[in-house]
Amino acid sequence: MSSLKEKLKRAIALTGPISVAEYMAQCLLDPEYGYYTTREPFGTQGDFITAPEVSQMFGELIGVWIFTAWQAAGSPAQPVVAEIGPGRGTLMKDLLRAVSRLDPGFVRQTRFALVEASPRLVEVQKATLANSSASPEWYSRFEDLPEAPLFIVGNELFDALPIRQFVKTPSGWREHMVGLDQNGELAFFAGVASLDAALLPADAATAPEGAIFETAPAREALMDDIAVRLKQHGGAGLFIDYGFDKTAVGDTLQAMKSHAYDDVLANPGEADITSHVDFDALARISRRHGLAYTLTTQGEFLLQLGLLERAGQLGAGKPVEVQESIRDAVERLAAPDQMGTLFKVLTVTAKRR
Ligand code: SAH
Repeated sequence: MSSLKEKLKRAIALTGPISVAEYMAQCLLDPEYGYYTTREPFGTQGDFITAPEVSQMFGELIGVWIFTAWQAAGSPAQPVVAEIGPGRGTLMKDLLRAVSRLDPGFVRQTRFALVEASPRLVEVQKATLANSSASPEWYSRFEDLPEAPLFIVGNELFDALPIRQFVKTPSGWREHMVGLDQNGELAFFAGVASLDAALLPADAATAPEGAIFETAPAREALMDDIAVRLKQHGGAGLFIDYGFDKTAVGDTLQAMKSHAYDDVLANPGEADITSHVDFDALARISRRHGLAYTLTTQGEFLLQLGLLERAGQLGAGKPVEVQESIRDAVERLAAPDQMGTLFKVLTVTAKRR
């Protein structure tokens, strides 16, 4: 049994059931046993593969987007280009290479920053970026980023931020809690806390008993901070994640271990635990702050940025096997039955000042 499981059981026995948000936060970032603090989740050896790890084209095209967004903002002097939740640092490495080719002058005047909560992953990112054309800076929290026009990207960050769940019971929507069953094992329960009906989506009224509704206070607070920063200093943001574009009832909490779904409560700290992102909620926050935003699918977004052209360039004159692997990567990133449709892309842009 995982040591985190023991730790959680002891804590719950002492103080009672914990929220799904607390459970997720401890699973992912517990200093001793957390998934991101202790494990190497990414890649074929790990538990899942993310888009930057599929192909260098992903980070390169995001570099093109960042550069174009900077130009569209009027090329503000001394901007910050940041990535939040950078994993192994692969996206930033590919982005740096792409923008260095586009405009070395842009790279010289830009501060590149990585926002990472896991000290272990900071070390991995430093190794990945050791020979890059810029000297990136690291921050553990978004708030600590230098105050300047900001161009920020986050890939599969929002899915990792803790959510709360509410379950429909005969006495209304109650917070879904993690407690101990009669055998002392982790189990879900309906707690005492409820939810303001004004926060429920339209389909909540007809949802059956046992239905789950998710809210993501940590995710929304971060989006709010980002929006405020963009409004104050100008800039743009790009957020990519699996999720849905209309707020709705549904249980999307999931655990991944060795490329397979795992029981959410079975292996705390040993499996990646995430939820699908409600992009509708993030778009509402952007709107409230007066930012312009677009919401598209990853497939559409990458094709518009020139995925096929970049694939053609990369494959030109290369052996057939290399060309095939590039074609596979294009499929994987953009095909509707792969990452192309499930993954959504939210762009937010401050009005030009
Ligand atoms: N973007 C990477 C990694 C995605 S996994 C990729 O696409 O491969 C999520 C990443 O977010 C990890 O690096 C994790 O440590 C980091 N993370 C989780 N919570 C965070 C927070 N609150 N602030 C900054 N980074 C966070």
